[in-house]
Amino acid sequence: MPSFPPYVGRFAPSPSGPLHAGSLVAALASYLDARAQHGHWLVRIEDIDEPRTVPGADRIILRQLQALGLHWDAAPVWQTQRHALYAQAFARLRAANRVYACHCTRRELPPGPYPGTCRPTMVGASAHAGRHAPASPPSDEGPLFASVVVDDKPNDGVPNTALPRDPAQSGKPPPQTPRARKAAWRFLVESGIETFRDRWLGTQSQDVAAAVGDFIIRRADGLWAYQLVVVVDDARQGVTDIVRGADLLDSTARQQHLARALGLRYPRVMHVPLILDAAGRKLSKQNHAPALNLDAPLECLQQAWQALGFARLSVATLDAFWPQATAQWARRFVP
Ligand code: GLU
Repeated sequence: MPSFPPYVGRFAPSPSGPLHAGSLVAALASYLDARAQHGHWLVRIEDIDEPRTVPGADRIILRQLQALGLHWDAAPVWQTQRHALYAQAFARLRAANRVYACHCTRRELPPGPYPGTCRPTMVGASAHAGRHAPASPPSDEGPLFASVVVDDKPNDGVPNTALPRDPAQSGKPPPQTPRARKAAWRFLVESGIETFRDRWLGTQSQDVAAAVGDFIIRRADGLWAYQLVVVVDDARQGVTDIVRGADLLDSTARQQHLARALGLRYPRVMHVPLILDAAGRKLSKQNHAPALNLDAPLECLQQAWQALGFARLSVATLDAFWPQATAQWARRFVP
């Protein structure tokens, strides 16, 4: 029986290279969870960090998924076509006095949480600092995003729904000081503990203000930061369940906090184990993990399946792999 609300899962690869054994573990887990819960499974290409995008990697990733039998239920989306949504969320936070421009360079900052150097002394900041926000009523994202026309122009780093008097938003040349040109925008974090239940790791909590501090939602180079876009996209796409690698566990409290500030419901989460290389580092494109060998798709899936803690399946074809894996996943993870 389908769960209620209807399950929507997603896989959100960054197109910085083809899928490798590590990214397949996250893809497989999110796909199986969606199938085991009779849900929809979406693919979102997270190409918002354009300097890291490798041209053509998105197409390769989509081909890899299809070759492995991971079939999406709606057309994939690309973040670079969704700037209007991010600009709208940013404007909303700005109207609520939850963002401020930050001129600190990385070199100027000590390691650890942002010390609040550029935190404004204005009314909004002092009103927010030091108390936990009352939970905004969860809403589906319809009203928030209803009037947005999704931009399909190539990203020039400037959102198309500009705020008129904000140089960082308007696309007009900013004031002629080097500091103003380099402003990033930080989200003003309120004090309090964020708690969530991770379906793999159990209950987690983080004091975002103490652990991270006010974090960047728009970068100094004009690009939207991952923390903002992932929250906006998950809400906009109706995602109910995030299943992803454990390297993102540390971002979850931030995202939940941000979602609440935007009046959005934050999905359930499950963070699955990472594959480590011989040096104990996460297998990643940055560490030159080899692309999946699609001459042996079943073997790729078997290895990802075993990395998730299951015993190798005695199956000879992809068609036989999927129903067995889905049934076993459902027995272990679907109540
Ligand atoms: N784009 C991220 C990555 O490839 C995943 C983000 C997410 O699942 O929230 O690591």
